[in-house]
Amino acid sequence: MKDKQIVTNEFVKKRNVYDFGLHTEFAKTYMHDIAQVIFDTKIDSKYTQKLMYEASHTSNKKELSELRNELSTHFDELYHYMQTQGIRQFHFHLPDAVSFLRFHKPKKFGDSLVGIRPTVEYVNKHHRQVTAFEEGRIFNGFRNVYPIFYNGEFVGSVEISSSFAAIQEIMQRTQKASLLFMISSDIVSQKVFNSEQSHYVKSEFCGFMFDKQVLSNQPELTLEQLHIINEAIASEAKKYIDTEKSFSLCFRSDKVFNNKSISIDFLPVFNLQGKKVAYIINYEIDEVLDLLSAKNKTLIVILSILSFVLSLILSLIYRYFKTREASIHEMATHDALTKIYNRYGLQEVLEQKVGEFKRYKRDLSVIFFDIDHFKQVNDTYGHSAGDEVLKKLSNLIAQNIRTSDIFARWGGEEFILVLPETSLFDAVILAEKLRKKIEEYDFEKPPHLTCSFGVTDMNEHEDEKEMLRRVDEFLYRAKELGRNRIVSDIET
Ligand code: GH3
Ligand code: MG
Ligand code: MG
Repeated sequence: MKDKQIVTNEFVKKRNVYDFGLHTEFAKTYMHDIAQVIFDTKIDSKYTQKLMYEASHTSNKKELSELRNELSTHFDELYHYMQTQGIRQFHFHLPDAVSFLRFHKPKKFGDSLVGIRPTVEYVNKHHRQVTAFEEGRIFNGFRNVYPIFYNGEFVGSVEISSSFAAIQEIMQRTQKASLLFMISSDIVSQKVFNSEQSHYVKSEFCGFMFDKQVLSNQPELTLEQLHIINEAIASEAKKYIDTEKSFSLCFRSDKVFNNKSISIDFLPVFNLQGKKVAYIINYEIDEVLDLLSAKNKTLIVILSILSFVLSLILSLIYRYFKTREASIHEMATHDALTKIYNRYGLQEVLEQKVGEFKRYKRDLSVIFFDIDHFKQVNDTYGHSAGDEVLKKLSNLIAQNIRTSDIFARWGGEEFILVLPETSLFDAVILAEKLRKKIEEYDFEKPPHLTCSFGVTDMNEHEDEKEMLRRVDEFLYRAKELGRNRIVSDIET
């Protein structure tokens, strides 16, 4: 039999590529989560922040070299662990996008990544984390770049990325498919260091090169078989490659897998600018296609529907996990009784607001307040009446603040309001308004209730702990002075 591509059902093709897209998404999310956990728990520490602060404040080569060595030793063990988890690039950058330390190539540093690594430039500009596929001077990768702050000042960024090979490894744990990764040849010639171009090899597809590391790990088909398939489908594939969409082709030949049908699915990979720069290709023996050629139409329809339902279930499971993740976060950061932020949630948002305060020099005030004689409410009306009061009070406050204000239950009957872009003066006015609202409100059990308040604003040379300590002292003084009142920096 002659090599040939068989024409097949569009539905089967669509289903194949959809399945494959979903499978890839799972693996990508998995690798992203690993990077995120490593950053949150191991890298974003006071140690790293301070070291990067020092590195970003000196141009002395000797000092920089000492700091680089220190960082390298400090994270040496972690980097080895990261490699076992499929992380390939671990790369620190200074705030001007100059490479500070590449763990995967420690002797190469000091080069500017401007014009080469938009993800790093993005983080430098916006001071916000970014995740995207990106070609690089040494490796391409699915990159996560995180900003690093020292006391609110942006002091550089760190990249934790995986190659497609890591994603391939995860995908092959559950499916014995052959996967290839090809990247635009222009990208390789423009961006990759000359010494590193040998990581890529010419592909059968015009304008694309294969990633060698990926090429070497093919459990299902041999490289020779892949070559036969690619040569046969190259001209058909070209038509679709120009459209930027994902697509699926079929191939059947007695030279490859005894005349079994092979489905070849192409998934485009876009970079941060939305430009298509690579393709992930999946080669899979497709029994459905063989049945199609056997003209057993009813069975094909049934099988197609079944596998489509399976894909649907998989996508629902995926969504379920994503929603569950969000609801776990919601639970961890919010108070079950009042539904407002709890202390942990507040700390998370507060850190971000303090960062913005330091960067953009905007006002930031806080109001800390506590219910007066709340113990008596519990003693007189019972604990559940006390709970009702806490709920009603939270609602009352929530109705009288701006959506940009952050409202949290600090603990027991203590609450805190973080007010971005609000001066101390305006914060005191708001506290006074809230104090009156509470005093006038009928909580039923009890009919009257008051709160005491501390109000302060953040100053540039302190951290949030110092600010919170001060506002707590003010609240304590308001209690001492007779309760139902406000103490702030204005009066002291
Ligand atoms: P002060 O004016 O000095 O603040 O007096 P207080 O009675 O409000 O303060 P104290 O700290 O002595 O008592 C706080 C009370 O708040 C004691 C505790 O049982 C009650 N409390 C804390 N959390 C809850 C809760 O979730 N529900 C209820 N019902 N009561 C709570
Ligand atoms: Mg109290
Ligand atoms: Mg209290």
